[in-house]
Amino acid sequence: MTVPVSIMWFRQDLRVKDNPALNAACDMGKIVPIYIYDDTAPNGREPGGASKWWLHHSLSSLNKRLNGHLQIFKGDPQTLIPKLMKSFNAKGIFWNRCYEPWQINRDKTIKKTLIEHDYEAHSCNGSLLWEPMKVLKKDGTPYRVFTPYYKKGCLQVEEPRYPKAPPARITYADVDNDSDSDGLTSLDLLPTINWDATIEKEWSPGEDGAADNLADFIENSARKYKDGRDIPSANGTSRLSPHLHFGEVSPNQVWYAIKDKFGNSEDKSIETYLSELGWREFSYYLLFHFPTLPNKNFNEKFDKFPWRTDAKALKAWQKGNTGIPIVDAGMRELWQTGYMHNRVRMIVGSFLVKNLLLSWHEGERWFWDTLLDADLASNSASWQWVAGSGADAAPYFRIFNPILQGEKFDKKGNYVRKYCPELNKLSDKYIHKPWEAPSAILKDAGIELGKEYPKPIVDLKASRQRALDAFQTLKE
Ligand code: FAD
Repeated sequence: MTVPVSIMWFRQDLRVKDNPALNAACDMGKIVPIYIYDDTAPNGREPGGASKWWLHHSLSSLNKRLNGHLQIFKGDPQTLIPKLMKSFNAKGIFWNRCYEPWQINRDKTIKKTLIEHDYEAHSCNGSLLWEPMKVLKKDGTPYRVFTPYYKKGCLQVEEPRYPKAPPARITYADVDNDSDSDGLTSLDLLPTINWDATIEKEWSPGEDGAADNLADFIENSARKYKDGRDIPSANGTSRLSPHLHFGEVSPNQVWYAIKDKFGNSEDKSIETYLSELGWREFSYYLLFHFPTLPNKNFNEKFDKFPWRTDAKALKAWQKGNTGIPIVDAGMRELWQTGYMHNRVRMIVGSFLVKNLLLSWHEGERWFWDTLLDADLASNSASWQWVAGSGADAAPYFRIFNPILQGEKFDKKGNYVRKYCPELNKLSDKYIHKPWEAPSAILKDAGIELGKEYPKPIVDLKASRQRALDAFQTLKE
């Protein structure tokens, strides 16, 4: 009897463990594992440079786990997949669902075409704890506020699925060497200039790197997460976001690794950490039910907000040259490591949209290009949250004071000193406000403002008032 062949289509689930589609494909018989780099960018967005770097290394790592059997293609899956079904003599195809609006439309079309041609097409949930279509209010409409969504809509209704063991055995179908696989290098994901050296030192893309970060977090930081997560110089968070984005670990694996270790603990740190995974779910939920989230204000009132355009200020923000140390440290961390601590993301975001009065779209686009964890759902939802235009957003009139934020969460200035070494010799008292330091102290520290380190590009008090005035126009 011939064993049926199925295609396992890897997408944002670049792992072998707890991969429901892979398990189902292996249960059917032999598999051909494939990855398609969709270069048609149908959502109008190519992945940013940092994401491409991660994807390259993640695919390389997955290919090793699959003993070199991953077939890699570039092109439009809608035309490629029917061809591949034929050339691999496959009976069916398996994938885990993705939730960006264009992916949903694309996958529906592919499924329909395949079924019309008598192929089997199966999709599974491998990326979310609670799928958005299943969570609705009693009146059948989607939630718009996090706490009722998470508590009533998710926690009280269903426990997340427990992670699956990896397939007991993966049997690969024979594939001709000239199977047309384009190969990883053809995707051209690595940068042509050498900006990734500092990133490489910090991260290990792939399933093993994800497992190491998770184990390290559980061992060293989980119990202290509630306070530790706000200190950017401490290793207080799990640093799992790029691994989760590319599906090198599932949220279910993370959820139950924590639950199995700490039980149904009422420890505030554990509860807070799980609720952060809940925020990730909420972002996907919002994107699913409100697909214009990346492009349009969730709160339409903001459509007439008087954003400024100021290319010079935007550039100073992007490069970490605003003269506000905690903002500059954050933007430089992002550039050097492809990551920025969550507390600092909120501070630099508030500074951009409130003190500089530049649109949240500018911030969203820069993060999209430079973050290793750039994620359409989390990035759009978070930027709208920061701007005040989003679901359950921080009120616009609550404007972070970056000096106070620095003094509270980076008391000794360790974070600022790491990324703004030119301020290294400045005392703790002035590290977050060098422009207030007497000239003798600046001189002793070897700093001339405007030379070694910029003068602030805005006056914090006046720009705060300007933002409040702008907000006031929405009420008129
Ligand atoms: P932990 O604190 O260890 O949290 C565990 C996981 O929970 C994270 O890996 C992440 O998947 C999820 N999570 C935590 N906080 C949030 C949140 N506020 N919203 C959604 N999910 C969350 N996160 C992204 O993954 N991709 C983005 O593109 C992104 N853009 C952001 C833009 C702005 C302006 C802000 C303020 C936040 C953004 N975040 C984004 C959310 C958050 O900053 C990161 O998820 C977090 O810093 C990742 O670090 P960690 O893995 O150590 O997080």
